[in-house]
Amino acid sequence: MAFLNIKHLKKSFGANTVVHDFNLAVEKGEFISFLGPSGCGKTTVLRMIAGFETPNSGAIEIAGKDVVNLKPNQRNIGMVFQAYALFPNMTVAQNVAFGLRVAGKSKAEIDATVKEMLGLIRLEHLADRYPYQMSGGQQQRVALARALATKPQVLLLDEPLSALDAKIRISLREEIRAIQQKLGITTVFVTHDQEEALSISDRIVVMHEGRADQIGTPFEIYNRPASRFVASFVGTLNMLEATVADPQANRIDIDRNIVTVTESLSHYAKGQTVTLALRPEAVSLDARKNHDTSLDVTIDDVHFLGSVIRTRATLGKNRLSFDTFNDPTQPPPERGEKATVHFAARDLLVLKD
Ligand code: ATP
Repeated sequence: MAFLNIKHLKKSFGANTVVHDFNLAVEKGEFISFLGPSGCGKTTVLRMIAGFETPNSGAIEIAGKDVVNLKPNQRNIGMVFQAYALFPNMTVAQNVAFGLRVAGKSKAEIDATVKEMLGLIRLEHLADRYPYQMSGGQQQRVALARALATKPQVLLLDEPLSALDAKIRISLREEIRAIQQKLGITTVFVTHDQEEALSISDRIVVMHEGRADQIGTPFEIYNRPASRFVASFVGTLNMLEATVADPQANRIDIDRNIVTVTESLSHYAKGQTVTLALRPEAVSLDARKNHDTSLDVTIDDVHFLGSVIRTRATLGKNRLSFDTFNDPTQPPPERGEKATVHFAARDLLVLKD
């Protein structure tokens, strides 16, 4: 049975329903990301798990127990917010000790846990500093230690990295993932950054207008986006407009190039417009064994990046980007040239609206 089980969750603010029938089963120790654009309801779902918002309907179970009617402090949850939210008048050690003191733990237990937590975030040497004496990244590590000190059942992270600069963001996300795996703590992480979600999650929930559009591993979400929204939000995928040429034979017309897709098109009408997705790394300028499909394109521009050559091409009103590896025996194409690109038909995905 799932450790965190969310069933048919619904939330409205006045007449505005911002979460519609949201369902998710999280296994113990899993790292789940909620990924989606601003306003899609990620934070609202997280706040309902924490107990800061009350759902209109639905259930939230943690370890088999429905927590919807419990107050936040009765749910045994740790939370880290975007703004560091440390107590400014307390030292690092006092911040980390806060929840333990509220819970009435003994001094010996508090001291031992604070030491353990500061060890976990590698900040033992800053125990007596105040928040204003530390960098944003350090403060966020302290916020994480404070959230973990009470040994919560579930850790909730609400865009904890978005106030930090790019380099720190990457190192801290790796650190968060390492700590999460070390402790085996069930974690829900909210982000609008696809690379962040792809790099650290066991599974991602892609959210769109208060619904989970797709739930899957980073590999599944990136390689098999379930909808046009997921493909456009998550990927660097090429999106191609095409028409159905022959629904029974699964044939599609992309700017007068007729190609056969591997998915069944029998439920489409002849002439119907469809959107296709094609990963940039699936496309090549040379026809290899598994490249059974070709498109005639015009090269728009070529960026020689060393090991990789990033090329942009046009076919009718569609634009196609692709990356190829440098091959010293084969000079890259030139701007304005006609070229034929090759890929495997199975890499051409027909997207649902
Ligand atoms: P962001 O990344 O911008 O925080 P989000 O995906 O987390 O976006 P939410 O904060 O969950 O989105 O908000 C979802 C919708 O609910 C938004 O349209 C927002 O305006 C609305 N909303 C959130 N909280 C309230 C509230 N207390 N009262 C009224 N509307 C709210």
